[in-house]
Amino acid sequence: MELKANLPSGPIAQKWSKHRFDMKLVNPANKRKYSVIVVGSGLAGGAGAASLGELGYNVKVFCYQDSPRRAHSIAAQGGINAAKNYQNDGDSVWRLFYDTVKGGDFRAREANVYRLAELSVNIIDQCVAQGVPFGREYGGTLANRSFGGALVSRTFYARGQTGQQLLLGAYQALMRQVGAGQVKMFPRHEMLELVVIDGRARGIVARDMVTGKLETHFADAVVLATGGYGNVFYLATYAKGCNGTAIWRAYKKGAAFANPCYTQIHPTCIPVHGDYQSKLTLMSESLRNDGRIWVPKKAGDARPAHQIPEEERDYYLERKYPTYGNLAPRDISSRAAKQVCDEGRGVGPGGLGVYLDFADSIARLGAPKIEEKYGNLFEMYERITAEDPYKVPMRIFPASHYTMGGLWVDYNLMSTIPGLLVGGEANFSDHGANRLGASALMQGLADGYFILPYTVGHYLASNKFDKVDESHPEARAATATVEQRLRTLLSMKGKRTVTSFHRELGKIMWEHCGMGRNKAGLEAALQKIPALREEFWRNLNVPGSADELNQSLEMAGRLADFLELGELMCLDALEREESCGGHFREEYQTSDGEALRDDERFCHVAAWEYAGEGKKPIRNVEPLVFEDVPLQTRSYK
Ligand SMILES: Cc1cc2nc3c(=O)[nH]c(=O)nc-3n(C[C@H](O)[C@H](O)[C@H](O)COP(=O)(O)OP(=O)(O)OC[C@H]3O[C@@H](n4cnc5c(N)ncnc54)[C@H](O)[C@@H]3O)c2cc1C
Repeated sequence: MELKANLPSGPIAQKWSKHRFDMKLVNPANKRKYSVIVVGSGLAGGAGAASLGELGYNVKVFCYQDSPRRAHSIAAQGGINAAKNYQNDGDSVWRLFYDTVKGGDFRAREANVYRLAELSVNIIDQCVAQGVPFGREYGGTLANRSFGGALVSRTFYARGQTGQQLLLGAYQALMRQVGAGQVKMFPRHEMLELVVIDGRARGIVARDMVTGKLETHFADAVVLATGGYGNVFYLATYAKGCNGTAIWRAYKKGAAFANPCYTQIHPTCIPVHGDYQSKLTLMSESLRNDGRIWVPKKAGDARPAHQIPEEERDYYLERKYPTYGNLAPRDISSRAAKQVCDEGRGVGPGGLGVYLDFADSIARLGAPKIEEKYGNLFEMYERITAEDPYKVPMRIFPASHYTMGGLWVDYNLMSTIPGLLVGGEANFSDHGANRLGASALMQGLADGYFILPYTVGHYLASNKFDKVDESHPEARAATATVEQRLRTLLSMKGKRTVTSFHRELGKIMWEHCGMGRNKAGLEAALQKIPALREEFWRNLNVPGSADELNQSLEMAGRLADFLELGELMCLDALEREESCGGHFREEYQTSDGEALRDDERFCHVAAWEYAGEGKKPIRNVEPLVFEDVPLQTRSYK
């Protein structure tokens, strides 16, 4: 497989402008002759579909929720980065670029990251024009706060509901196009297969989740913006429905899967509280602007927080990383939390928690100010834990939150299947081995509003498209594959539920491919996952039928894909014999426990190619070159 990144030539700051000029355009009068399928209506898909509709293309949008407004992006809390430098504190496009390359531990493509930083400023203008109610200063200017891995305040926010407000903006733009007849919406439709004809993506097979009917839809190009696969861990901060099916189906049709082992474990989530819990809740990183993280100095100290005097507390992030303190990046903060808990200094039931304490900020700023900034997050915390964080410190612990890995794309966001473009969390493009906080919304909207509208047009203008329909053998084969799979899932009538299998997979992944990974553990996981998969296909029980609303069937299909994707994650983690960002191989660390990269052997993207059922996938490599931010040891001390 050839991995051609298609990076434009010239200085980094001019690459995107040059490329936009070099790309082909579609005559406005011809745009209505082209059709595009967008799978996903979150920030990336919603913004992309609205923009493509506005340009005049015929767009079909698919999502599995009952409304595009319910895409998982709605859950994003803390904010979105942009290099506006409103604070006059030293920010610039270059600094955001630098912070992101360094934050990703030098495992992302420089040119993509620069473009992201460059476009960040347009995103804020676009969203303000849509009426997104960003937080403002008293004088009316947009407010900013800080997020991890940065020494400037560049995060724009709408209280703790930034994703919701941004999504409402994208949704309005999308619905305007629905009203104009340019976009047709297919809610409650789940894409279960990609249709590839003559080597190009030409359509999808989707199941109407209410009636169970299978439908085949065709277009000249297909965009996947289907979000991340972090629910492979079962317990995660993701919405329960988030899954990897769309990208996994595409992988099995020839799209390379890049860096599957790069997953983000977020340091500030409400700890697990029981065996039957099905979901974890994030406490936004923005809270680390004012909350201080600590544990008791002494192992096994079971006193309540208020009885532990100041001198017996270890503010370990401030101690270890004095420059960045509580705003050290997520991978580093999560590992530090794990380390203190492993030392027996964790707090709360099972010792799997650390304190996030607002006492100092409340004393300094007053409770009303803290409430103004984080009121909804505090309320959410209290509802879940029955503890009042204005009075006692929050207890937090790391949890699966984001996937930096995803389908490999070139500079145009084109996968290795021509005509299949991938945006947002579903692709691997910009965050390397660790994503900085508030950069996912930025990437999703950059892809959707500002990159896909150009690169989709360029693809359409560069190719000719024959008409295709359901009678095409590839379309018929794709539908038959889906039918067969649904039949098999329903026919086993075994003894175990989907959830019990998913929980077991999650435990394997968390234990062996979570915050810390090692050779022996990964090898064990590579034995356990196929065994679990074998049992799944023998002993699963899915009630009901395929011709009705059947959530067990939906979940079973998604888990079947997770059971394969999880294995690829472990394989990728095993073969990457270095530590970088969120991928921490315990064998490769410095004497003080920091990630130890091996740039000689691993300064590349690993893009996995499906080799057929039962065969080991092929590991392809895209070398990474760092010219503008020279390779260096990543330090936040
Ligand atoms: C709790 C939480 C808080 C976060 N806070 C922040 C934050 O403050 N700042 C930040 O930058 N990032 C944050 N993130 C990350 C960020 O929210 C996500 O990375 C981002 O919103 C993903 O957007 P997306 O458009 O790529 O995908 P999503 O919003 O996940 O949308 C996926 C879409 O694809 C559709 N879909 C998926 N599969 C199929 C299929 N097979 N068939 C049909 N449709 C399908 C879904 O229906 C949905 O419409 C947070 C994440 C979480 C979990």
